[in-house]
Amino acid sequence: MNMAPCLFCRIAGGEISADVVFSDEEVVAFRDIHPQAPSHVLIIPRKHIASVTDLADEDAELMGRLFTVARDLAREEGIAGDGYRVVVNTGPGAGQSVFHVHMHLLGGRHLSWPPG
Ligand code: 5GP
Ligand code: ZN
Repeated sequence: MNMAPCLFCRIAGGEISADVVFSDEEVVAFRDIHPQAPSHVLIIPRKHIASVTDLADEDAELMGRLFTVARDLAREEGIAGDGYRVVVNTGPGAGQSVFHVHMHLLGGRHLSWPPG
């Protein structure tokens, strides 16, 4: 069994349970344990990449898939029409707390700008 110390690698590997809403060979999406909006889904690559800062050029297509999965999930969540936000917090100063790159998909309420 994969005993990776990374929390999101363990969720992707099924070692830690989560409310998974999408999964394929490259990408997993699951509901945030502390939702900040009526719809709050985290979309991650199965590949461990710590943050946007750690991306390699060859990760470009994989990261693009996070967007197409977000697009599909926004439709499924019923938030595509009204609008939603995709956010990738990068580094501690921006609030990143789990160092496995992830996209937040947030919607179902008004989202103000600029963010906090
Ligand atoms: P970050 O702060 O790094 O941008 O986002 C990490 C997110 O992961 C937070 O919104 C936090 O609520 C969520 N999170 C942390 N631990 C868990 C967990 O064990 N399960 C799930 N589903 N979400 C988690
Ligand atoms: Zn990881």
